[in-house]
Amino acid sequence: MTNQAGNPRVSTNQNTLFLNLEENLQNKEAEIELLQETFTEIGSELNLDTVFQIVATRARELLGAETILIPILDENCETYTYRGGAGKNAGEIIGESLPLEFGVCGWVWRHKRPWWQGVLNELSEEERNLWEKEAGTMILVPLQGKRHFLGGIAGINKINGEEFDRRDLTLLSMFASIVAIVIENAMAVKKIEEAHKIAEDYQLRLEILNKQLLESSRELEFLSLYDTLTLLPNRTLFRDRLAQHISLAKSEGSSCGIALIDINDFKQINDALGHDTGDRVLKEIAERFKNSLHTYETLARLGGDEFIFLFPNTDKKSIVKKTKNILKLLDKHFNIGKSEIAAGASIGIALYPDHGDDIGELMRHADWAMYRAKNNKQGYSIYDPEYDDTSLGKLTLQADLRNTLENQGFELYYQPQITLNDNQVIAIEALGRWSHPLKGFIPPNIFIPALEQASLIDKYTYWAIEQALTDAGELKLLGHNIEIAINISTQTLINRDFITNVKRIVQDQENGRHLVFEITENLFLSEYDRLSDTLQQLCDLGISLSIDDFGTGYSSLSRLKKLPVSELKIDQSFVKDMSNSTDDEAIVRSTIDLAHNLGITVVAEGVETKKVYLQLKKLGCDIAQGYLISRPVPLNTLKDFLNNHNANI
Ligand code: C2E
Ligand code: CA
Ligand code: CA
Repeated sequence: MTNQAGNPRVSTNQNTLFLNLEENLQNKEAEIELLQETFTEIGSELNLDTVFQIVATRARELLGAETILIPILDENCETYTYRGGAGKNAGEIIGESLPLEFGVCGWVWRHKRPWWQGVLNELSEEERNLWEKEAGTMILVPLQGKRHFLGGIAGINKINGEEFDRRDLTLLSMFASIVAIVIENAMAVKKIEEAHKIAEDYQLRLEILNKQLLESSRELEFLSLYDTLTLLPNRTLFRDRLAQHISLAKSEGSSCGIALIDINDFKQINDALGHDTGDRVLKEIAERFKNSLHTYETLARLGGDEFIFLFPNTDKKSIVKKTKNILKLLDKHFNIGKSEIAAGASIGIALYPDHGDDIGELMRHADWAMYRAKNNKQGYSIYDPEYDDTSLGKLTLQADLRNTLENQGFELYYQPQITLNDNQVIAIEALGRWSHPLKGFIPPNIFIPALEQASLIDKYTYWAIEQALTDAGELKLLGHNIEIAINISTQTLINRDFITNVKRIVQDQENGRHLVFEITENLFLSEYDRLSDTLQQLCDLGISLSIDDFGTGYSSLSRLKKLPVSELKIDQSFVKDMSNSTDDEAIVRSTIDLAHNLGITVVAEGVETKKVYLQLKKLGCDIAQGYLISRPVPLNTLKDFLNNHNANI
């Protein structure tokens, strides 16, 4: 340049031209440098706010603008928000949102082209009049990302007082086209981060929920195994311990014994001094009993004023001695508040193997002995089969059962189950009935165990399944397409021929889908491995499985989850009085919650009052069964019930 400037042939005009050219070139270099710096600066930046900040500051330098604003289209596509800015007043404007149709932004959005003074002649006359005066003080170029239209970059007023010209437009457009991609990426990263945050929040909430679930599961386990008043084991846990000791004694050839204690006239204490005092007496009694206990012995509260001891490795003589000691523990009066209370007891003793070889028999016989103790002076009695007339009829009963089976003399009664949310009968439970020609009605609690003992239960069960299928077919013809639940005895279920026989009777899924098999809870614990295959085969036949008497055993729900079980029935002992017992209500509530969590339907049995019905509905229980809805009835009565019930809906 210096050479040219020094050439005498070069005129002054040309000289100025060169100077301008040089200035231009220098400007261009500066601009390119600025652009390059901008891109290195934002290229590695992922924080969206920082990106906006850098873009605004650099654009302002590039244009020499008083203010730069970055309006970005909101997700609703109806408004835009100023997300970044630099220079005069920018601080106040950033964060403001405006409707998209508003002002220059709307124009750019609609046309996807820059706004500057050069577009004035494209405007309607009205718009032109509105904007003409200040057209040169503003420039707005679109930010077009790879995938989306993002918004724009606006420059307002040049610092040197001039108007924005075509050069500014080209410069800012080029700038915008490149930063748009960085902005779009940073926006995507922000979205991912937000999604991450949501996922983390969910994870946290899930963890809290799981913890709560675990706690309530523990609470449930405690509630189902212990008595909350005395903290002693309850009937369930006691039965389990007794079962263990019986099988131990069986394998060792030893013996064990139980002493069932009933506090005399306890009702009078309750009536005269109130339930609170009654409860305190029971706690004191439990405390005294507990203190006399050896580690290998078990003491449980069976309910009400009944306690029971389990003594391993004992005989008649030593259990009598222990029993006398128990009675002595009650000699001293109980001081509760200002009252001094005397409490005596009657104790019934039964020994394995002399008085029975299973839990049921031993408990029944201890109970029998306890009633006898009430009428003797000693306060205790040992079971004596000679005086027990209930055991006399055993043999004739077996012959009767066999005859009845052969003559198809048993009957099935049906009890409806209704959905709590819309009152529909969706299933019925088949309950066996036996009307003995001489002895009259014999309840299933007597004849089912008798069938089991006589090894006739399999035959009975197959008859029951067949009968239920016939009845289901008849109901279907009448338009009642409902499931029939059948109680399956453990003995039958673990039988190796069971599946073959069921397949023979049920034949196909069409029939299987009408059936639900009710199986008691404890079975799932003890025979898990052997049974899971059988259960799966039942499911393949279309038969659903339900766990009966839930709560009386102590299966862990997490274990049940692994079995193909679709329903559980909360035992009626928890349901019947749940409106008066917070313990029962707690058990029912947590059972429902836990079961639902595992996707298992919950049936409450023993629903006798409207109050309980409403309570269950509130707790989200699915299905109710009980006297409130209907007692078990013969098929013909059931048909009437179904017709009327459906008519009532
Ligand atoms: P489960 O399976 O628990 O049947 C429910 C029992 O509760 C039935 O007694 C039913 O009549 C009674 N029940 C229903 N609703 C209420 C109510 O609201 N309040 C009260 N207090 N009781 C209600 P059921 O018919 O005497 O049967 C007793 C048990 O005998 C059954 O208990 C079941 O374990 C067994 N059982 C009955 N039929 C059969 C059968 O065909 N096969 C087998 N294996 N067992 C059967
Ligand atoms: Ca049942
Ligand atoms: Ca039951």
